[in-house]
Amino acid sequence: MSKTRLRRRISSGLALAAALFAAPFLSAQAQQQHAHVHGQLKLDVAIDGPTVVIDMESPLDNIVGFERAPKTDAEKKTAEDAIAQLRAADKLFAIDPAANCKLGPVELRSSALGLGNPDPAEPAGHADLDATFSFNCTHGAAAKFIDVNLFSAFKGTRQIDSQIASAQGQFKRQLKRPAGAQAAQPVRLNLGK
Ligand SMILES: [Zn+2]
Repeated sequence: MSKTRLRRRISSGLALAAALFAAPFLSAQAQQQHAHVHGQLKLDVAIDGPTVVIDMESPLDNIVGFERAPKTDAEKKTAEDAIAQLRAADKLFAIDPAANCKLGPVELRSSALGLGNPDPAEPAGHADLDATFSFNCTHGAAAKFIDVNLFSAFKGTRQIDSQIASAQGQFKRQLKRPAGAQAAQPVRLNLGK
């Protein structure tokens, strides 16, 4: 066998090995993309004409402190209280009064709590609570901030990663749970650049 042919064989062997390793690597990566991190919550805020739509994706643990159907009376009460707080979303998200917004439809999704149509790709052993909160505003474009009360409402929430899409463009902003008693106060999410 010539040296060139041998080299070619080795390199095709390496390509095959790379392909074999790539498949499990990719699926592990895909799982990782979905795996949630306790304490972290994602918010997508879209301001489009007269509507403000807030999409939330959260580990259920952040909201109620467990990730399965509630068993005890205390757990059932915790879940009911959390659902009531989420439905009253204008208390969780106080949008800049200049925009003059009113809470519209609230859609909650959680398999563990039996709400809506949950994401079928939920990681095993974990449960999410996802939600879409819609607001109807007379001056949506005037909204410069949202005062967010998620840290005070849901003690397990430590960090909010938000993406904002508005007429000004798209940007990301991160909010951290304030230390101590400050966590009871709303945290301002600025919507402008
Ligand atoms: Zn989890």
